[in-house]
Amino acid sequence: MNYNSSISEIRGVGEKTASLFKKLNIENAGELINFLPRDYDEFSQPVPISEAVPGEICAVDVRVASIPNLKRIRNLTILNVNVADNSGDMQLTFFNMPYLKNTLKRGGSYIFRGRVQAKGLFKSMEQPKVYSYDEYMKLTKKLQPIYSLTKGLSNNAVSKAVRFCLDKYEFPDEYYTEELLSENGLIDYPSAIEEIHFPESRESLINARRRLVYDEFFAFIYNLRKNKNENDNTPNNFKMFETADTVKFIEALPFKLTKGQLKCWGEIKQDISGEYAMNRLIQGDVGSGKTVVALLSLLLTASNNNQGALMAPTEVLAVQHFETVKGYIEKYGIAFKPVLLIGSMTAKQKKEAYERIESGDANLIIGTHALIQEKVKYKSLALVVTDEQHRFGVKQREALAGKGNDPHLLVMSATPIPRTIAIIMYGDLKISIIDELPAKRLPIKNCVVGANYRPTAYKFIAGELSKKRQAYVICPLLEPSENDELENVVDYSEKLRAALPDGTRIKYLHGKLKGAEKNSIMEEFSKGEIDVLVSTTVIEVGINVPNATVMMVENAERFGLAQLHQLRGRVGRGEYQSYCIFISTKNDESTMKRLEILNHSNDGFHIASEDLKLRGPGDIFGIRQSGDFSFVIGDVFTDADVLKKVSADVDRVFADSSGKYDRIKAHFDNGAFNFVDFRSI
Ligand code: ADP
Ligand code: MG
Repeated sequence: MNYNSSISEIRGVGEKTASLFKKLNIENAGELINFLPRDYDEFSQPVPISEAVPGEICAVDVRVASIPNLKRIRNLTILNVNVADNSGDMQLTFFNMPYLKNTLKRGGSYIFRGRVQAKGLFKSMEQPKVYSYDEYMKLTKKLQPIYSLTKGLSNNAVSKAVRFCLDKYEFPDEYYTEELLSENGLIDYPSAIEEIHFPESRESLINARRRLVYDEFFAFIYNLRKNKNENDNTPNNFKMFETADTVKFIEALPFKLTKGQLKCWGEIKQDISGEYAMNRLIQGDVGSGKTVVALLSLLLTASNNNQGALMAPTEVLAVQHFETVKGYIEKYGIAFKPVLLIGSMTAKQKKEAYERIESGDANLIIGTHALIQEKVKYKSLALVVTDEQHRFGVKQREALAGKGNDPHLLVMSATPIPRTIAIIMYGDLKISIIDELPAKRLPIKNCVVGANYRPTAYKFIAGELSKKRQAYVICPLLEPSENDELENVVDYSEKLRAALPDGTRIKYLHGKLKGAEKNSIMEEFSKGEIDVLVSTTVIEVGINVPNATVMMVENAERFGLAQLHQLRGRVGRGEYQSYCIFISTKNDESTMKRLEILNHSNDGFHIASEDLKLRGPGDIFGIRQSGDFSFVIGDVFTDADVLKKVSADVDRVFADSSGKYDRIKAHFDNGAFNFVDFRSI
């Protein structure tokens, strides 16, 4: 088998399984072996109930001591079972698994594995996994890969398919030179792929990961350099100067611009009126007010009789920007003629938009990727602004820029990366930093607590709702999956429905919903027609709903601190006191210590660097800073050193003309290198 072999060639993968794999974007063997586990599980020997430690994941080898008792509460079924061994007893609770009532026979022996909870001396587990003794013993030998799954496809099925595929896979010859391999301590690619799926040990897993991170960064930077605009100093085809419009707009705003915003605005004006086209990155923490600065630049463009485009990574965010602009036009009569262009619009709506863009009737075009589609023709595109740019590939950015006659480029990002990394990631962009938040914001109150705090949290949320405020709850997963003890938005919404007062309007949001559906849910939430929004991290990027005052994050231990900080930035945007509740189901010292950083700092830069210090090389998977820059395995924070080294190595490869790097060039020119994104957003 090779990269392009169909996965239906794999034993046991029939039409039905193939269609499930397709849902995960896996259609051929290459994609399957690049579908990396998102975590690993270590199955330790079962312990007696008396030694099961509350807060930890344990396996107990027990007999069923009672006839399972099934209850129904609204849409939820709850099954309680008592189990015992010679050392004690405990209660197990299963949600929405009524069929277990018939499987778990009184007197039968099973191994249950799950997180142990305790009330006083009384121990329990919620939603443990059930194994026969033999099944369990087979698992105890090694680190077990955990894949992101879809309903109907089990972890075991994925694992088996990968095994079959790896045994028959013909890997390409090594492309790096001996020198590069040894300098960077890289193992060969086939071993790395083998070990990443079926690790022999923690150590070999770390080595495998290192090779794959190096490869992923290499592919990225190689393409970055290859596509890099050959003349860095593009002449300024759109020299534009400040007009009365922007001055009036600044005066009309209900707030004064911060010093940081003013400085940044000054730099933009200088760029735009200068000799070369602007290429600028605005970095500013969440809530620092980047949107206003972008709108000022776009207004300057419009009042110079040119067009500006604002590209957002999600439809939700594009629609939000569009609404903001419409609000400003109504209030301040500014000279925007905006048009929205997103994938979920009807063909007729799109056609109308295209016409307005081509005729120049629209001078501000707001949208998503739809902005770079071939059908869109601009009359005179002079400025391109991308919001939360790190979600875009460089190619997309350049495609949009290519639509005009070398327009100015402004990139906004809230990702707190150090300057050295920014230079690698953004090439020759100049950087402006907005380093202060608007004054008069009430600081957000935070708490980091265990799962036993949930009932209190729900009461607290109910209290805020009764004051007509709104709340977010974030879960790491989007739908029930077969081998997971992490919370998912679908089941969690049901749990919340049972816990919050009748009539509470709860909806969920995740990345796999249709675009139009996501937009309408977000719109309902902005209008206050939904009280609690249960969501994956899709809402992490840029959403602004000032009436929301509570952000509760489940399985907070699973997120990088920088990402949690972004999530926190969704509240505290208005006049009301706001609160963040981080629920951690892992109460060990190092997890709590990491999360505590959030309690003490509101500074994204500081948080990200502290997180880095506390995370040893042992934390290899599971926690990511965020999905920024669309890397699947590499992390610009944790792997900053590798990134820097790769950057230097790529320079070396491009500078060399002796031919010794030709294999590398051929490999990465082919572009057949892509991990399958396993993140659940
Ligand atoms: P971000 O930088 O995260 O994109 P936004 O641009 O969405 O932040 O701004 C967050 C909120 O702060 C918005 O409601 C915006 O109107 C408000 N805001 C922006 N600048 C100021 C300022 N100088 N003073 C007070 N509020 C501001
Ligand atoms: Mg923003």
